[in-house]
Amino acid sequence: MSDEIRISAPPAEGGARDTDDCVQPYMIDATGLHGRMVKLGPSVQAILSRHGYPDAVNHLLAETLALAAGLAAALKFDGVFTFQTKGDGPVPMMVADVTSDGKMRGFAQIKGEIPPLHEAISAPIPKLLGEGYMAFTVDQGADMERYQGIVALEGATLEDCVQRYFEQSEQFASRVNLAAGKRPDGSMAAAALLVQRLPDEGGDQEQVGQADEDAWRRAVTLMESAKDEEMLDPDLPPNDLLFRLFHEDGVRVFASRPIMDQCRCSRGRIETVLQAMDPAELQDLKLDNGTVEVVCEFCSRAEVFTDEQITSLSATPSDS
Ligand SMILES: [Zn+2]
Repeated sequence: MSDEIRISAPPAEGGARDTDDCVQPYMIDATGLHGRMVKLGPSVQAILSRHGYPDAVNHLLAETLALAAGLAAALKFDGVFTFQTKGDGPVPMMVADVTSDGKMRGFAQIKGEIPPLHEAISAPIPKLLGEGYMAFTVDQGADMERYQGIVALEGATLEDCVQRYFEQSEQFASRVNLAAGKRPDGSMAAAALLVQRLPDEGGDQEQVGQADEDAWRRAVTLMESAKDEEMLDPDLPPNDLLFRLFHEDGVRVFASRPIMDQCRCSRGRIETVLQAMDPAELQDLKLDNGTVEVVCEFCSRAEVFTDEQITSLSATPSDS
């Protein structure tokens, strides 16, 4: 690969390096294991700031966004990767989605009392999501294969739940270390470190088995040794942290990919939905002043349709 860079020494000060809002793929030289680091700063802060969720929800959604970006980057696809949770707790639904070109968005539904962060942080799954499931979907358009994986919400943290998924999945034989929290300037950040084990491809498994197993365990131990503060540090680029973790085994990085805070909602899409609605239902949506206001769940942007616009929408046949 021509875009790879071997990190043989700590990168020089002042070099052009991605610090935030990116996915940084890497490979550990000694073992050939691949992984990625996702680091989200301004993007996750922008997404969360549009909603005003309690701290505990911000924390969990931020981790979810980092996880979604990390899993999406592991797949070859052209479309949308969606990570969704559904449960019977005070956060009945959470969604994070990332397109193959790095546009990310997310939201959480809140129903009921959210415990304070210090109470929720050790066990956000039972305290916020409750019993339910998490699902991963890759949508590549109407005529393409749709991949979906589902796992029950079992465990205290998002890492626990996703680990159960990895154990039963061939798509994601991975381990993940997630972090979310406030930076010194008060803004939210999130990060994910992933290391991936490629599925066995036959061959003499017994001979290579033990060496592979040891290499895997060592990589996982090193990856899990990364502390939240290091992963979220605005002054510690992913390359520097990867070097800090894996330098003894040699580590190289590949071209990083940007992640952007960008919703995919549009007035045209909402019009299509409104057109497809039953006219009586559409009337029911009208506010006292005759307008219909549709708010995007993801980005909180409101689109307002006047009485006349609604009437002309109803008169136009929908193409769907
Ligand atoms: Zn939107």
